[in-house]
Amino acid sequence: MNTLVLGAGVTGITTAYYLAKAGHKVTVIERQQGAALETSFANGGQISACHTEPWATPATLIKIIKWLGRNDAPLRFRLMGDPKLWSWCARFLFNCTHSRALINTERMLRVALYSRDQLTKLKKDTGIAYDQLNKGILHIYKNPIEHAAASGRAKSMNDLGLERHIIDTAACVALEPALKSAADNNFISGGIFTPSDESGNTHAFSTALAELCISMGVEFHYNSPIKRLIVKDGRFKGLETEENTFESESCVVALGSYSPLVLKPLGINLPVYPAKGYSVTLPITNFKEAPHVSLIQDELKLVYSRLGNNLRVAGMAEIAGYNTNVDDERSQFVLKSALALFPGCGTPEMAEFWSGLRPQTPDSVPVLGSTKIDNLYLNTGHSTLGWTMACGSGKILADLISGKDLEIDLSGLEISRFS
Ligand SMILES: Cc1cc2nc3c(=O)[nH]c(=O)nc-3n(C[C@H](O)[C@H](O)[C@H](O)COP(=O)(O)OP(=O)(O)OC[C@H]3O[C@@H](n4cnc5c(N)ncnc54)[C@H](O)[C@@H]3O)c2cc1C
Repeated sequence: MNTLVLGAGVTGITTAYYLAKAGHKVTVIERQQGAALETSFANGGQISACHTEPWATPATLIKIIKWLGRNDAPLRFRLMGDPKLWSWCARFLFNCTHSRALINTERMLRVALYSRDQLTKLKKDTGIAYDQLNKGILHIYKNPIEHAAASGRAKSMNDLGLERHIIDTAACVALEPALKSAADNNFISGGIFTPSDESGNTHAFSTALAELCISMGVEFHYNSPIKRLIVKDGRFKGLETEENTFESESCVVALGSYSPLVLKPLGINLPVYPAKGYSVTLPITNFKEAPHVSLIQDELKLVYSRLGNNLRVAGMAEIAGYNTNVDDERSQFVLKSALALFPGCGTPEMAEFWSGLRPQTPDSVPVLGSTKIDNLYLNTGHSTLGWTMACGSGKILADLISGKDLEIDLSGLEISRFS
């Protein structure tokens, strides 16, 4: 079957790979000049299935109120006169209950754990290299009350089959010796370690997989902004870019935060809103002082990944529309936080700053599967975990379009959950 994949972020590339593997003739349409140059470019690098949690929880609601007016707030809303934002916020509030958070965690976990298995198979099949480290993820807490609360949640996650170890400060340092100075400065009251989690460079992975796709016969059309999708008699027929028209028998929308803009003219209302985040990439100059184990710093909601000879630090979230300007104050805050945890590991003058738009759904669950147009499919809305969920999501879409039995249940993941 002839299939168009829209978008060459990590989601689009993995979809193209699994479709090509299943024997489809695949064409990828992308407005940038290469793969993974938008949100998949410089994210936190964590494949963090065992730390899967939705943003919308009762605790987040209380924290958002405390963070109001603070420029270093990990999550900040800039409410504007945008009706799409107001309706997104209403859905977000609806999901901030204990029972909704449990439902959403299960849905996210279903995709994240499946995805981790698919990534393992893909690595074995292809030998792809992307600065991957299988050293687990250590979530560190400064506040003992937060550590105790998270330890309670970790026990219930263990009941779901996840391996989470609750550990004290000394064990954190034993796992990651570069944390010694942070422990001496009372930055760590304890941690939660998930040995089966991983990290790696999403951009390196996506570009290498795109190369492999080309060798499998996938066609890439870069520098091709999509103008409109063409639907006739209730079926997807093709699309127009600024210079060309493409036709196909099926189509997968993997346009990240921009997916709703392309779908709206077709009467498909997708509640995905951009949530801007920041990252800092710090070349390591003192290797003894830099971590190997990937980390989550709880109170600041910052993630740390060792990517080759660089330390990637990422976090912050702003719900403020389609704006990718790098706010100097917020990105300097990320850098200073990293240097406070790992003093002297790199030279601040060499740091590279970046911002990207997470395709955020109000429940943090991706949107996978078919639409009311039966040959038009969605693989989008991966929110904070697009890298963690990319391989599983791509495989599910390829199986669905190929008419194969799905290896995980799609219920609660489709767009119909919002109607
Ligand atoms: C600061 C930050 C840290 C993060 N850390 C992590 C992490 O540690 N682990 C994790 O799992 N996830 C993380 N994420 C989330 C993850 O990066 C995203 O969920 C993921 O990159 C989304 O991938 P995507 O392919 O869906 O979207 P994108 O990467 O944005 O790809 C969409 C593509 O569509 C193209 N496009 C859009 N509109 C058009 C158009 N009209 N015509 C043609 N092409 C178009 C874009 O150019 C882009 O290439 C983080 C995100 C941020 C911002």
